[in-house]
Amino acid sequence: MRLLFDYENQQKQSTYLPKCDVERTELSLKRKQKLHLPVLCENEISRHYTELAKQTHGVNDGFYPLGSCTMKYNPKINDALASLGGFTEIHPLQDLESVQGCLELMKQTEKALCTITGMDAMTFQPAAGAHGEFCGLLLIKKYHEMRNDLKRNKIIIPDSAHGTNPASASMAGFKVVTIASKEDGCVDLDALRQAVGEDTAGLMLTNPNTVGLFDKHILEITQIIHDAGGLNYYDGANLNAIMGIARPGDMGFDVIHLNLHKTFSTPHGGGGPGSGPCGCKQFLADYLPGVLPCLTEEGYAWHQPKQSVGAIKAFYGNFLVVVKTWAYLLTLGSEGIRETAQNAVLNANYMMHQLKDTYDLAYDQTCMHEFVISLNKEKHDCNVSAMDIAKALLDYGIHPPTMYFPLIVHEALMIEPTETETLETLDRAVDVFKKIMADAMANPENVHQAPLLTPVRRLDEVKAAREPHLRYIWPDDE
Ligand SMILES: *Cc1c(COP(=O)(O)O)cnc(C)c1O
Repeated sequence: MRLLFDYENQQKQSTYLPKCDVERTELSLKRKQKLHLPVLCENEISRHYTELAKQTHGVNDGFYPLGSCTMKYNPKINDALASLGGFTEIHPLQDLESVQGCLELMKQTEKALCTITGMDAMTFQPAAGAHGEFCGLLLIKKYHEMRNDLKRNKIIIPDSAHGTNPASASMAGFKVVTIASKEDGCVDLDALRQAVGEDTAGLMLTNPNTVGLFDKHILEITQIIHDAGGLNYYDGANLNAIMGIARPGDMGFDVIHLNLHKTFSTPHGGGGPGSGPCGCKQFLADYLPGVLPCLTEEGYAWHQPKQSVGAIKAFYGNFLVVVKTWAYLLTLGSEGIRETAQNAVLNANYMMHQLKDTYDLAYDQTCMHEFVISLNKEKHDCNVSAMDIAKALLDYGIHPPTMYFPLIVHEALMIEPTETETLETLDRAVDVFKKIMADAMANPENVHQAPLLTPVRRLDEVKAAREPHLRYIWPDDE
């Protein structure tokens, strides 16, 4: 595809700046070369960006079962509400009386999310899930410091965990202790008992876990950590499966993060603003970062937790993402929230059962909101890999599932059909998965070439990450 710089007939200007009405000044930083800016007329610019948009795949284009990411359709009304001037045109330092509604909205959202998760307080400062993890770990660290229990420097994390868990733990200054999962994908209780000790600061866990299974021993797990003097951290990325039904707070978790851009109606995937609020039980609330909205006799105000770990982002986080969450919560209500989780689990189990005779399940049991298939046998028997299946799906307008994660399953594809997918979409996707397998078994070459219909074919993914071309090179540059 042409870049903006490659258009011929440049100089068809579409913007006209008024004449300069201030005195010209010489800048000390003078350019050595001419500044190349593409100059195009408005319809060419519009076509260029429309063409770009057509080359990508989003939830609005088709099925997007990207495991662990909860790529659900987010109702446009939530974005429309978050675009209202009363929300977008305010400033964090504005007089409190003029933003009472926004403070109330934050407080209401905090209360609703605390009710859903079984927590007592929450901050919206963290900008994403990993940031929320970091924040929660700072709370755990502070808890031990305040008790003068300084030897607790280890966080226990199962080997199935999302990569951000160990990364956040080490950023927060902890040592990571990895424990192997059992064959069934769940926490090995004996390994956990062996791993805990006087240096245990806490445990990080997601439930349902990253292979889509609800750990039935969750109460025993969190008790083992509490008995050892540690705290339990809940990675809330998989909340879509249990919200309105089971609460991390009741499972023995002390600190959590949520991904508003996964579970609560903010589109994600393009690096846009996210929000990873961090919630905690009352005994940790005084350590929360930043200022928090609170109701006083004079209306809503900010309150600074007494022993705060400090700010981890400017002001109050990505407020407009909170507006979308608020709108989503109000439109669904408590019944709707529960139904969302039920449908997410139903959709995943339906698809899993339709596919289990064609694809090997990594764990052949009832799943939660996602399930993992393995191409390990096909890879060894006939050189058909998870990558081949993922690429072949692209030719049918389906975004591939998450590939090669979790790391504990070889040739993994993790499929998460969210609650917003219809039965027709699921049936069509099942047919496509089956057809691809049949084509691959007839002749592996059929899938080795895929994709054939996309704007670009198989890319050198390592090169794309390691040697990105981020700058247009003009002939007279350099
Ligand atoms: C997405 C995800 C995270 C990290 O969240 P980000 O918002 O991407 O930082 C952590 N844990 C799990 C299980 C996830 O799926």
